[in-house]
Amino acid sequence: MKPAVVVVDMLNDFVHGALKCERARQILEPLGRLLDGARNAGVPVIFSNDAHVPEVDHEFSIWGPHAIAGTPGAQVIPELGPKPGDYQVPKRRYSGFYGTDLEMLLRELGVDTVILTGLHTNICVRHTAADAFYRGYRIVVPTDGVQAFTEEDHKSGLEYLKQVYGAQLIPVSEVLERLAASAPATG
Ligand code: ZN
Repeated sequence: MKPAVVVVDMLNDFVHGALKCERARQILEPLGRLLDGARNAGVPVIFSNDAHVPEVDHEFSIWGPHAIAGTPGAQVIPELGPKPGDYQVPKRRYSGFYGTDLEMLLRELGVDTVILTGLHTNICVRHTAADAFYRGYRIVVPTDGVQAFTEEDHKSGLEYLKQVYGAQLIPVSEVLERLAASAPATG
């Protein structure tokens, strides 16, 4: 297994600002642990970030303006990073793959398994999972590493990821155990 952690839309506007999701706070601690564990195990951390073009992007008709490229609202929340060595891939649609460099990056990193985290379970995580599935990646979704606006959206979102894309649903603690077990020996 050659994994990478993909962190979807953990941006100021999604956690604290224009599209604030109260439930995002629940995943900050486990997600922080996951990212630290991944970095320590040499597993790439990739932030897949909304970076919208003002006045133009189609999504605004549904959600209103958010995560405008170049504004503080479009930056990753300081609680999570990015740290030196992390990657950031901007996107303008729900999927982290659509019209972006994500696939090129994953390929060059030799990744075959994506660990999908962030917001929202039933929207951008789901669409990113779809595109990962189409491209043949194995998908792991830490159940305490994703969230949505409501419990129902989150739960049904997880179930959909499992049923339709074969996503493995396991807690962050178990993902960390697997990353540590598969990490190259050091020292
Ligand atoms: Zn957006």
